[in-house]
Amino acid sequence: MDKYSVKCLMCGEVHDHYSLNCKKGDDSLLRAYYTAKQLIPSDMPGIWRYYNWLPTEGIIEEGSGRTITYKSKGLASDLGLDDLWIAFNGYWPQKDAYLMTCTFKDLESFPTMQRLREQQEKRIMVVASAGNTARAFAHVCSITSQPLLLVVPKDSVHRLWTIHEDNYSICLVTVEGDYFDAIALAGKLASLEGFVNEGGAKNVARRDGMGTVMLDAVLTSKELPAHYFQAVGSGTGGISAWEASMRLLADGRFGDTLPKLHLGQSLPCAPLYSLWNGVDAVDAACPGGMYDDVLFNRKPPFAVKGGVKDALEATGGTLYAVSNKEASDAQELFENAEGIDINPAAAVAVASLVQAVKAGNVKPGEKIVLNITGGGQKRLMQDYKLKQLPISLEVSAKDEGAEAKVVKKVAEVFGV
Ligand SMILES: *Cc1c(COP(=O)(O)O)cnc(C)c1O
Repeated sequence: MDKYSVKCLMCGEVHDHYSLNCKKGDDSLLRAYYTAKQLIPSDMPGIWRYYNWLPTEGIIEEGSGRTITYKSKGLASDLGLDDLWIAFNGYWPQKDAYLMTCTFKDLESFPTMQRLREQQEKRIMVVASAGNTARAFAHVCSITSQPLLLVVPKDSVHRLWTIHEDNYSICLVTVEGDYFDAIALAGKLASLEGFVNEGGAKNVARRDGMGTVMLDAVLTSKELPAHYFQAVGSGTGGISAWEASMRLLADGRFGDTLPKLHLGQSLPCAPLYSLWNGVDAVDAACPGGMYDDVLFNRKPPFAVKGGVKDALEATGGTLYAVSNKEASDAQELFENAEGIDINPAAAVAVASLVQAVKAGNVKPGEKIVLNITGGGQKRLMQDYKLKQLPISLEVSAKDEGAEAKVVKKVAEVFGV
């Protein structure tokens, strides 16, 4: 029997393992259904501990880490909470946390890359990113030597560092414009012969990779939490947490109530908050003025079947909008209380938790999981010398010849 099958949530049709869309044209995410109904952790390294609920046939041994969950003392006491668990994604050797690009995007990139290897994919993978995803894919491609075309907004290029000495399999293109412009250009490129799109939220490997945050939190704390907090841009991590929770519910050993999703967005650019609450919380200058612009996504998968709206409705969840002041206060609070630096995006989740406590949305004795989506970059820099990825080409979103220029550069870089 197959390890898993991939089905459309609308028509129920079984699809090829690697499909990104329903072939009947339904506006629905596809979802992986695993044959193993119970979560059995393996003794394989990093994320592969959760191999039986990852949609791969095989693993990448080197370089993968996983979420490390622990019970909070410092922040819990500051907030008057008794059962607060931190799901830490990043670098923190004292806690055995080794996500080497310091965010949970490593949880998406490894399973996605493993599937390309299974398919013996010879085409060049195209990834558009505001930075953290690009860094995670650069990391795994440096290990597997899969050719990678990164399309990144120019202002995000500082996030493109690596711990690897050489990265010959990467072509880095910067786009004058925002994340959406980068996505648009990447989309056009991915449709050309010789290129392949990684699929974003539609890719079950990305979602189930991120879903391992919930798996780790529940295995460690022994029970599904009442509440799950995360900072979101696309909201894919929220969808993933919901999907993982449904599997854990069906496992039968971890409780019978889905955790409520508490998703945090950063003002003044909070499109998911806007969609959910029917208010306008998206400034014209977005992503300008955000605490961390990795949290901006102009077209998040909100209304699509199996998307953010369904996840919030199914779990009785809610969205928070966080000001820059709240985020920076929360960052300081967390770092002082827990003793590790965190990614600014993760501070938005902490600020959402602070809001929730004040509003009485969570009770002091309830089990809460706080997803720290990124952390430990400062800590990493004590142990490693970070290297900027070299830029192969700079283009403008307005340049009609941008696509052709990239294709030419790719041919140069990869000798194809
Ligand atoms: C990408 C990212 C997020 C938001 O993730 P979603 O895809 O919206 O779930 C949050 N924090 C960090 C550090 C990220 O890199």
